[in-house]
Parts: sequence; C-alpha cells; structure tokens
Amino acid sequence: MSLQDLIPVVNKLQDIVTTTQLADIDLPILAVVGSQSCGKSSVLENIVGKDFLPRGTGIVTRRPLVLQLINIHEDDPIVSRKVNDSNDELEEIDLEDHLRKMNGGSKNSKNKKKTEWGEFLHIPNKRFYNFYEIRREIEKETLRIAGENKGISRLPINLKIYSPKVLNLTLVDLPGLTKIPIGDQPTDIERQTRNLISEYISKPNCIILAVSPANVDLVNSESLKLARQVDPTGKRTVGILTKLDLMDQGTNALDILKGNVYPLKLGFIGIVNRSQQDIAENKPLEDSLQSEQQFFLNHPAYRSMASKCGTKYLAQTLNKILMNHIRERLPDIKAKLNTLMGQTEHELASYGDMPNMGDSKEARGAMVLTLMTKFANAFMNSIEGTLITEISTKELCGGARIYNIYNEVFGSSLAAINPTHNLSIHDIRTAIRNSAGPRPSLFVPELAFDLLVKPQIGLLEEPSQRCVEMVYEELMKIVHSVCSSDIGPELSRYPRLQAKLIEVVSDLLRERLGPTIKYVQSLIEIHRAYINTNHPSFVGAAKAMSIVVAERQKQKEMELNSKLKLATQRILGRKLKEAETIEAIEEGEERADGDEGEGADDEEAEDTDEGVAKMKEDIVSVDDDFPKRKRSSHKKHQHHESQQPLNESYLNYFLGKDPIVHQQQMQAQAQLHPTPFKFPHPLETTLQFNTQFVNNGVINPNNSTPSPLIGHKRSESQLSHHDFKNLTINEGYNESSFESDETINELTEREQMECELIRRLIISYFSIIREMVQDQVPKSIMCLLVNHVKQHIQNRLVVKLYSDDMFDELLREDEGIQAEREKCIELLKTYREAARIISDVV
Ligand code: GDP
Ligand code: MG
Repeated sequence: MSLQDLIPVVNKLQDIVTTTQLADIDLPILAVVGSQSCGKSSVLENIVGKDFLPRGTGIVTRRPLVLQLINIHEDDPIVSRKVNDSNDELEEIDLEDHLRKMNGGSKNSKNKKKTEWGEFLHIPNKRFYNFYEIRREIEKETLRIAGENKGISRLPINLKIYSPKVLNLTLVDLPGLTKIPIGDQPTDIERQTRNLISEYISKPNCIILAVSPANVDLVNSESLKLARQVDPTGKRTVGILTKLDLMDQGTNALDILKGNVYPLKLGFIGIVNRSQQDIAENKPLEDSLQSEQQFFLNHPAYRSMASKCGTKYLAQTLNKILMNHIRERLPDIKAKLNTLMGQTEHELASYGDMPNMGDSKEARGAMVLTLMTKFANAFMNSIEGTLITEISTKELCGGARIYNIYNEVFGSSLAAINPTHNLSIHDIRTAIRNSAGPRPSLFVPELAFDLLVKPQIGLLEEPSQRCVEMVYEELMKIVHSVCSSDIGPELSRYPRLQAKLIEVVSDLLRERLGPTIKYVQSLIEIHRAYINTNHPSFVGAAKAMSIVVAERQKQKEMELNSKLKLATQRILGRKLKEAETIEAIEEGEERADGDEGEGADDEEAEDTDEGVAKMKEDIVSVDDDFPKRKRSSHKKHQHHESQQPLNESYLNYFLGKDPIVHQQQMQAQAQLHPTPFKFPHPLETTLQFNTQFVNNGVINPNNSTPSPLIGHKRSESQLSHHDFKNLTINEGYNESSFESDETINELTEREQMECELIRRLIISYFSIIREMVQDQVPKSIMCLLVNHVKQHIQNRLVVKLYSDDMFDELLREDEGIQAEREKCIELLKTYREAARIISDVV
C-alpha cells in the first residue's frame, strides 16, 4: 500500500469533513531534517513522486519550502477554470518555453487536459504546468530573498501542487544543518538554521523525517540530535538513512537499520536516491525507484530485509503513520457525525412527514382541525400567561401585558386627568349665574354643579377608548406571535393555513372592537346621564362646605391677627402707652408669627386662637366704651367657632331652604355620621350676613368713625375675608338688613365660596366616577372583547376554515419547507455514507 492508496480514503473522509463541517482530519505535516546535502530534497521528491525540487551539492535549499499537495479529481471544475495566466506566460516566456511551444508541446497539452500544476503564493493565479519551471521558480525565488551567496532565509516559499495523484498532505523541505559559515552566511548560521528547523518540527502535528547519510557515522547525525530535542520519545520521528550506495566497500548499515544502534520507535529506513549523475542525466524517477529496489535485492547485507528498505517501504510506513493518525481522529469524527445525524433527523421530523397526496379527506380534515385547535389553544394560553415564548423575558406580553394596560397605562392615564380641566372660576361663576336664572342667587344651585360636572366626566371617555384599543392591539400581537411559539414550526409548514388562521382570528377581534368601544362609550354616557349626589362616597355639599369654611377661617385668622396688630399699634399710639399692654401685644405677636410660620396644625391654631382672644380682650379693656354684649358674644364665638352646627348653618345658607334637598342632605349626613345630628336653629338657616358688623365689631367700636380697616375695604380680598370673618363670628346677629351696594360685595364673596365649593364637589364626584370607570372599563373589555374572542375562536375557526374543499389549499406546503426537507434527506444520506466509510477504514 503506497501513499497514493490512501488518497481515496482520505479524500472521502475529507469530503465528509467538508460537507459535514466537522473539524478537519488535520493530516500531519511531513518535514525533512538533516545536514546539508544528505538527500532531504531527494527523499521528499521521491515521496511526492515528482521531479521538481532543486537538488545538488552545496547548499541548495536555503528557504523553507512549504509544499501543499492538493488532490483534485480530473473533472474537477477547478481544472478547467480559466485563470488569468496567459498574460503572465507571455511576459515571462523564455527561450525554452518558446521552443517548447514551437515544437507543438503546447498543442499537445492543449488537447490533453492538464490536471497537474503548481501554484506559488508569491505569484497568485499563475499555474505552472511544467514542473521543470517550478524548480526554476523555486531557485529564482530563493535567490530573490536569500541572496546569491549561500545565505538562508526563514521566509518560506509556499507552493501548492494540484494533482489527482497526490494525497492531501503538507510537506516541508528545510535548509540543511551546517557547522561552518560560508559565503554570506552569518557566524551563527548553525543556531539560526537550528531555530528555523525547530520551529517546524516542534509542532506535535509534524512527522519528522530525520535524514542521515549512511556514509557518515550516525553518532554525528545532526538530524537525530535535533529530532530528539522536540520528540524525546521518538514517536513521530522516522529515521531515514540515505546514500547507502555510497558506503565504503565492505561496510553496511544493517545494525542501524535493525535498530540496534539508535532506538527509534518508528525505526530506520534505508534509501538510495538518485545520485548527482542520475540527476544530470535526467534519469526518470521511475527508473531510479527501480534501480533502488534492485540495489537492496542484490546487496548481500540488505537482501534479507529488502522488503523493509527503499522509498517504497518509506511510503508504506508513512501511509501507516497517516492511517493511524486518521484512526485516532475517527472516534471524534464518528461522534460528531452521530450528533449531526441526530440533529438532522430531528430537523427532518419537524418538517413533518412527506406530504402524501393520497391522504384521505378525513385525514386532512383531522390535520386542519388539530392545527386549528393548537392555534386557538396557543392563543388562549398566551392570554392566560401559560405560553412561554422567546420574547417573554424581553418584554411583557400576552395576559401580563393586558394586565399592565389595565393597571399601569389605563390607571395612570385616568389619574392624570385634572377633574377641573378646562374649567375656570369664571366658567363656574357663569354656570352658577346662568343656573340661577332671574331669581336672586340665594343658594348654591345644584343645577350648576350638574351642568359643570357632566362635561368633566366626558374627560374619561378618551382614555377608556384608548384602553380598549390598546388591549385590541395586544390581542392582535398575540395572534401573530402565536406563530412564533411552539406550534410555529408545525404551522410554518403550511403558510396558507397559518395566514388563514391569523386572518379569521383578526376578523373576529376586529368585529368585537366596535361593540366594545361603543359599550365603553355608553358607560361614560351613563355616568353623565345622572349625577348621583347621594353616592355614599360623595363628599357632599356639607363636608365640602365645612372644608371650605375651615380653610377660610384659618386664612382669616391669620389676616385678622396681622390687622389686630396694626389696629393695636394705632390705639396704643392714641392712648397712654402702658408697658404691660405693650408686652401683651408683643406676646401676641410672637404667637401669631409662630402660627404663621408653622402652618395649620390644629392644636397650635387653637392655642393661637386663645392667645388672640386674650389679646383682643386686653385691647378691648382699654376702651371703656366697648359694649359688653359684643364682648360676650365674642367669647361665645371663641367657644363655638369650630363646632359642627356652625358649619351646618352655612351649609344651609348655601344649600338653600328647599326642604326636600335639605332633607336629602340631612339623611346623607346622618348615614355618614351616625353621631346625633343637630338641627340648626331656625335663624341659622336663613343666616345672612351683615357688613354692619364690620363697623360695629371688635376692631372699631366707634360706628361713626371709619376704622383704619375701612380704608382697605375696597380691596376686595381683604374686605371679603374680613366680612366673612365677621359673619362667622357674629352668627347670632342676623336681624340687620342688607344694604344694596354691600349686597353686591357680599355676592362676590359668596360667589367665591360657591365656586370653591363647586370645584370641590366636582373633584369629589369626578373621583368617584373615575374609580368606577377604572373598574368597569377593564371588566367590559374582558367580557366583550377578550373573553368573547376566547370563547368563540375555536368555533369561528371551524366555521370559516373547516370545509372539504379548502383542505387541499390550506395544507399546501411551503416550497421552502419542501426544499429544507429534501436538503435534510440528502444530508442524512451523506452522513450515513460517511459513517459507512468510517467503519470501513477502521
Ligand atoms: P539536501 O541538501 O539534503 O536536500 O540533499 P539533496 O537531495 O539536494 O542531495 C544532495 C546530493 O546528494 C545530490 O546530488 C543527490 O543526487 C545526492 N544524493 C542524495 N541521496 C543520494 C543517494 O542516496 N545516493 C547517491 N548516490 N547520491 C545521493
Ligand atoms: Mg535540499
């Protein structure tokens, strides 16, 4: 078995490797090592079976030659591929080429397909069909880099030999080891060469052909020394003994060849290469191989072991080494091949069985039904959240996304609505005035609240509608994403069925969008239809009013305090400056300031109230004319101020005397506050407010003399606040009559209160409706859209798609899938064949 015999096996395996994309078999590199002129290039040439390497006496190989042998089929497309070498040939044509062409050599070669050629890396796209030219090019290229004068270079020459007769192998011809520098060689030439050689042979994938000439004592063999350094166990070193024909008469290398001199696992092989004379005479390779064989057979010493000598035996040995190497790699390749087969079989199964046109209608119907059901289930599971798709970790999807729409998106868009959006104080006032009509505006007209709150409820419509749309869009997404879920591959085999499934479900969804939106719209409409002020959560006018009043009072309190300060200073300026009084005021000031700074804490406010009251009394005591009655009433105010009945009285004032409305309010209050309800004093129900008290009040006891505050009276806010304060303080004094110009002022104040009240009522009522809408809209969507589709999807699919005449169309396979399946079948065939080859090799 020669190296050439390995070609089919290795080629097959390499085909497997290429088609299956397995790791390459990675055949070892063969490198020849030895001293100068020991016959390395000759050995290599013999192995390749081609006469193309420069050989001779003296240093010939001065650059590493990396020789890549590439096996090609004779009918490989690469053989007839047009390469752009015609120009090169013309340019580089020399006399010899010219003569060859003139002699018709090219004609012959043109008729004959040229299947063997060499290509140099440094001359891309030029094919050297003539091996004599290859040798010349190697020489030329060596000169170019390594110089004319014996110098060596580590830069390799890369040569590829394409031939149907070679094994896919890489061989390296290396410069020989020398001791003494000659020519241009540097003084450390030995070390340089050694390093260069080591670089190649130290690779574990390198088989070292350690060449030693038989006419030199083996103890001086540089090659074996070097090989031992990189391969101490000798498992990849083949000893080659050349020039056996040149040994001294009467001596032989039998001991070495038998392994008695130097132990090498792979042994020594004796070789007789062509002599320099043979080369000069152009002795063909075939002939020299023949004479080599004759040499061993006829030699008295080697005759007995002739079969284990010579180039042929070397080839067999290398063959064995390569084969062992391949065998070592085979289990790995086999395992990978099995994995690939498994994967391909699985892939093939995923494309489903070969469509059998002979399938019965029933079978096809069942198939359609199965896929339909799977689709419907996958859709529902996606909504339920039990379907795990690839995107599930990246973003919310399916049911989770719907939940998110309800709670996050819809919830926050509702929360973002300002209940009094687009509603100015002016609007409220106008509404109040309009709703009052020509009547004197005595009460807070419910009509105005009704009128104002209805459009505000309308604000809920847009986000509710958007919520429906978003859920709809999400469902649409789910429908499409179902195809990328588990059943995706199964469905993608039938693109028509898949498209139809999506279409039918999309239609079903679309049908439901309108009614759902309409329902949600009518939900809002319903809330606008009747304003239920009896809703238990509604703040109610009473509470709203008490809040408004309490706030106002607090504000007043603060303002009054600062005014008192002013007034006191004036009074004190007029009267005697009593140190004690001043101290009292200062104390009062401090307390008042403290109150202002710290804000509305109830307890502190009360403290301040007391402080202020005390201060007031102090001030009053200065004035002997101050009526005792009013002082007592003032004390009474201090006592009742923060009590509920007082606020109730104002409520009634605003809510009017309508007994039914009043009754309703009372009932609502009673339900809300189980504590005994105190009916207001009849007087309080019609409490009216008298600006006269301003003048008669605490601050300015002298009715005829305008107080300093009167000067500020035209400042509306101050006046109104002040008036209101008086109103609240002097609740009992309602006998005074209105003064017409004062009534206008009073109404302005009142309107402010009304506006504030209405605003609060709108906010309260709106919040209730908002809460209800936030609850009802998702429920409606679930009922009318999501659940409806879930319930009807299966039925709808059957109605639309399950019919005899549609099965063929629906189950028509995707062409791509068909091609994929065929590819899989082909691959499997290749793998099986490869597996068979591998088992043959072993
Ligand atoms: P390299 O320098 O190691 O590559 O050696 P070559 O292959 O160039 O050979 C050097 C010289 O020795 C050449 O002239 C060869 O013809 C000659 N030579 C090599 N091997 C043998 C052999 O086995 N017998 C004889 N007679 N000459 C050989
Ligand atoms: Mg050489």
